[in-house]
Amino acid sequence: MEQSSLIKPVLGGTYPTISHGHGVFLYDKDGKDYLDASSGAVTANIGHGVQEVMEAMVQQAKQVSFVYRSQFTSEAAEELADKMAELTKGDLAYSFFVNSGSEATETALKIAIQHWQEKGKPKKQKVISRWMSYHGITMGALSMSGHPIRRERFTSMLESYPSVSPPYCYRCPLQLDPHTCGMVCASELEASIRRIGSDNIAAFIAEPVIGAAGGVIVPPDGYFQKLKKICEENDILFIADEVMTGFGRTGKMLACEYWDVEPDIVTFGKGMSGGYTPIAAAVMTKKVMEPIRNGSRSIIGGHTLSANPLSCAVSLAVLKYVEENELVEKSADRGKDLSRGLKKLARKYSFIGDIRGRGLLIGLEFVQDKATKKPFANPADVTNAIIGLGTKNGILLYPAAAGLDGVTGSAIIISPPLTITEEE
Ligand code: PLP
Repeated sequence: MEQSSLIKPVLGGTYPTISHGHGVFLYDKDGKDYLDASSGAVTANIGHGVQEVMEAMVQQAKQVSFVYRSQFTSEAAEELADKMAELTKGDLAYSFFVNSGSEATETALKIAIQHWQEKGKPKKQKVISRWMSYHGITMGALSMSGHPIRRERFTSMLESYPSVSPPYCYRCPLQLDPHTCGMVCASELEASIRRIGSDNIAAFIAEPVIGAAGGVIVPPDGYFQKLKKICEENDILFIADEVMTGFGRTGKMLACEYWDVEPDIVTFGKGMSGGYTPIAAAVMTKKVMEPIRNGSRSIIGGHTLSANPLSCAVSLAVLKYVEENELVEKSADRGKDLSRGLKKLARKYSFIGDIRGRGLLIGLEFVQDKATKKPFANPADVTNAIIGLGTKNGILLYPAAAGLDGVTGSAIIISPPLTITEEE
């Protein structure tokens, strides 16, 4: 029988009580320690118990924790927005703060739609997305998400379905040879636009590196350049979902930098606060903002706690920590060490079918046999067994959906804090 009043993801499941965290380790009340090799849900990017963050938190709380954004601004929110503009570089200059990655997706969608309304194109309302994607659990964000397991209970509430195949070259959804395919999966965006009509489409949304919905999928070079060109040619905004990849996780400040592609709107969450407090953001270019600034001047969106000074001060401290400790570069270097080690393991165990990723965002896909890539008959059980074995041995890993339908494959994500040392 359930003893606790707190509802947990699995009712009646076992959840050790964590007493404290330090660096890349978490410690439970029974004295067991865990290497946080997943940064929770790819979130604790600077590790646990960082003094500078705690000081910023206390300092801000002593001044003021909450002011309502329709009445006041705060130094913390202003400074954070400036820092975001500096770190995202290029034309990405304007931030809207919310409290979760899902809210950041919702905000990006709404701003994209409003952008076109203010330009006199009110029909441009639809947003195109890909299968094997995850943009959040709220209804708008889930509508965009190609994550069958997370969608299935709520299908009647979901407004739309993804229409573009993912660049999952390990098992090409179009059954093509990745060496000669000409990236037909990217061309599917064009076909989709033709079917729906660019007059009806506000934006295209994609994760630069797919996370939980595919067990880390890095697209081939040229893929995002092609998508961006299609968006431009069809007057469609490109939204990059960097909620998981942003602020150094992949070894670049933004994962989009790998392909020199600048989004019109980019979303952040997770590593933006390293988990110290809830905060997320949609950041946009002048091109996106200008029609709104020259039009209604009013953003219809936001949440009561949006831009609260406490979260903004914490996020600012986290981003400064990332910069000052060169964690983007460290992520790239440690990622190479980790990949090298994992590849050695894969030579020994034929059930490790694929190792993929960038920086400290690495996915492992498990198969019955590497040569045939045959998936396990019970993929979820395999994933759970591996995660369970890790936890038992004090190593935390993150489960991911995998396989063409996001159900028939088995994968995990390894994504330790970017502060991890070679020895750890
Ligand atoms: N976008 C991506 C790429 C994510 O990985 C996630 C969460 O895993 C989200 C959006 C949703 O973020 P949140 O869980 O903070 O709402």
